[in-house]
Amino acid sequence: MYIFSTIKETSDYLSRKKGQGLRIGFVPTMGALHEGHLSLMRRAKEENDLLAVSIFVNPIQFNNAQDLEKYPRDLAKDRALLEQVGCDVLFAPDADEMYPEPETTVYDFGPLEQVMEGASRKGHFNGVAVVVYKLFEIIEPDRAYFGEKDFQQLAIIKELVRKYKLPVEIVPCPIVREKDGLAMSSRNERLMENERKIAPKISQILKEAKTKTEELNPAELKIWVTEQFEKEPQFRLDYFEIADDTYLQTVENWNKNTGTMGFVAVFLGNVRLIDNIRFI
Ligand code: AMP
Repeated sequence: MYIFSTIKETSDYLSRKKGQGLRIGFVPTMGALHEGHLSLMRRAKEENDLLAVSIFVNPIQFNNAQDLEKYPRDLAKDRALLEQVGCDVLFAPDADEMYPEPETTVYDFGPLEQVMEGASRKGHFNGVAVVVYKLFEIIEPDRAYFGEKDFQQLAIIKELVRKYKLPVEIVPCPIVREKDGLAMSSRNERLMENERKIAPKISQILKEAKTKTEELNPAELKIWVTEQFEKEPQFRLDYFEIADDTYLQTVENWNKNTGTMGFVAVFLGNVRLIDNIRFI
């Protein structure tokens, strides 16, 4: 595996490979790799000639200084895992390499960025779009793989690619969960033991909600889910929304023709976790 920390080395190497006709599969990450990340990488490796991965804890997508500071980092462990999945190129820049000057680009994703993660974490998706656009310019991937765990992020990236006609195929990948149902996340490492014990309730509540779509309309189901989270005093619900799977806007009715999902963000202590489930 080649490990590069500069943009020049990375794009020189990969553009040469592209010139030789090799297809590049790319998985952008913030490191602290787990099985969720690795599932994207295995698929990218399988479907392309070269696997490129980036590890960059992107400061401009954090709206909370403590979250950025506490974000887990373990490059040695990550490198070993990347070797295991057959990663060909790791791009691991520092912040000065990515942002030699203060970043001023402002994207407009309309209603898509005004709900849920966009509403709760101001500037988050702009920071995500800025870094992903830059990474696409550096890596020039044929395909890029994103997890449905961050479903709204995936929708934003699809919109970025559509809007700027970027020559990359976005491949959505299913959520990988722990045995007890908790969606894998680098932030799970930060949970206290007692918090980790109740964390699986997040996905349990979502699963049970899915069984209630026959008897409750979306507004009633939202109330029911909110009540379930309130029963557990350690949870602090940030939001639960029932929304369509394209524009992520709230739906009033169950409509078989509209893909409909439930989205949750919840604090356990200082750790904010997100999850989602498809209803229709
Ligand atoms: P992150 O390092 O958190 O920025 O995540 C990098 C990529 O891995 C994103 O596309 C995430 O959606 C994806 N990812 C993170 N956790 C999971 C998971 N549990 N299942 C599937 N994909 C995931």
